Amino acid sequence: MTTIHIIGAGLAGSEAAHQVARQGIPVVLHEMRPVRQTPAHQTDRLAELVCSNSLKTDQEGAAPWLLKEELRRLDSLLMRAANIARVPGGHALTVDRVVFAEEVTRAIASNPLIELRREEVDVVPDNQISIIATGPLTSDALAAEIGRLTGSDRLFFYDSISPIVEADSIDMSIAFRASRYGKSLDGTDDYINCPFTREEYERFVDALLAGESVPAHIEEDRTPFFEACLPIEELARRGRETLRFGPMKPVGLEDPRTGRWPYAAVQLRQENLRADSYNLVGFQNHLRFGEQARIMRLIPGLEKAEFVRFGQIHRNTYINSPALLTPTLQLRNNPNVLFAGQISGVEGYVESIATGLVAGRFAADLAKGCQPRPLPRETAIGSLCHYISAADPTDYQPANITFDLLPTLDDATRQKLRRDKRARHAEVCRRAIESMDGFLNVHAAV
Ligand SMILES: Cc1cc2nc3c(=O)[nH]c(=O)nc-3n(C[C@H](O)[C@H](O)[C@H](O)COP(=O)(O)OP(=O)(O)OC[C@H]3O[C@@H](n4cnc5c(N)ncnc54)[C@H](O)[C@@H]3O)c2cc1C
Repeated sequence: MTTIHIIGAGLAGSEAAHQVARQGIPVVLHEMRPVRQTPAHQTDRLAELVCSNSLKTDQEGAAPWLLKEELRRLDSLLMRAANIARVPGGHALTVDRVVFAEEVTRAIASNPLIELRREEVDVVPDNQISIIATGPLTSDALAAEIGRLTGSDRLFFYDSISPIVEADSIDMSIAFRASRYGKSLDGTDDYINCPFTREEYERFVDALLAGESVPAHIEEDRTPFFEACLPIEELARRGRETLRFGPMKPVGLEDPRTGRWPYAAVQLRQENLRADSYNLVGFQNHLRFGEQARIMRLIPGLEKAEFVRFGQIHRNTYINSPALLTPTLQLRNNPNVLFAGQISGVEGYVESIATGLVAGRFAADLAKGCQPRPLPRETAIGSLCHYISAADPTDYQPANITFDLLPTLDDATRQKLRRDKRARHAEVCRRAIESMDGFLNVHAAV
């Protein structure tokens, strides 16, 4: 029987190993810790959570809930471990990280079909089915090998994420649409601009300077910053005017209320085709999420902003997946090599588990001589795989699961539910679960 090699026993790799083994196929799972540590992991346990202990909301009807619900239906080992390790956390699925990782480690170690090898892999085995799941902190030697395998040196090493807000939470009686000097690609006013008076700007800079940052996870998170994507609080520290000459530059932006350029401005760029979310251009930062919400709401026009995502900066290694992967996570130029987890171009714990789970299923299909079977596009997991393989490869950014990634509802349903966002989301979830169940009926869970 073909043995499948999985490199990296983090969230994605451990889940993938379980999925392969449950189909009766042997696995060699290579994990470099503790022989070699990453800058963020602290133990030798598999599936260690390196930062927060939250697997996000488990409130029915939310996109992160849908992703977890699908995983549970697919018999996810890590969802089972999370259930055992659950601690009170409101709507969030919050876990005791030690219990969680111990549960996963125990399950993998006691599985007779899985051989766990504690070693750093720097060459991907030739002519074998392999899953690369080495995460955002992939060792340097393997990163070089991945560059060779993918024929590209476009591995990304810094993740700088600007906050994203919901469009309908922007106060358009204050913010205004315009492009700098009226220059826009298609003649429309591409940006939403939030104008500051001098007093508002000073108050905002003071808040940034006093804001509480996330403690650096790893030494290289701290210094040196990547000059091209400095956090805004660092810019503020470099001088009170720095932001006004950088990402908050007001030149060429005429405020229709005053007929003049404001003292400073934040520009918001449309995030998706549906134009229901906007990112704050150049506003990557290291502030704690609660602090971010408080400080960003000092921006005129964003007083009631609802955040889809908060800003972050950390080291991140991921491939330019839309240019390289099929929807079944196989390398287009080498279909025996699959990618899963953060390195495959997703963002987040549960997204990493999800891609690990399907990569395990796809690899098992290959080992059995079958075509890998993608999950329906209506599901959250199918949509994640679609995003990874079909997004625009120019300046590709990894994504968390959001309803933006799932197919839109048909016009009639959208129209019917137009005033009720919660009902629209519930309907997307219902359709996702229905198509997942349909898929599992045809392709039995094993
Ligand atoms: C500092 C930091 C903080 C983060 N915080 C959060 C958070 O709070 N919430 C969230 O949802 N997401 C967070 N993420 C993003 C992401 O969800 C996690 O990194 C997640 O662990 C990714 O899962 P993974 O399986 O892809 O990688 P990992 O869980 O990192 O697993 C990869 C495994 O591969 C091993 N490995 C690496 N190179 C080799 C090699 N050459 N040979 C053998 N083994 C190797 C590593 O030791 C590791 O065990 C964070 C990422 C970073 C870097």
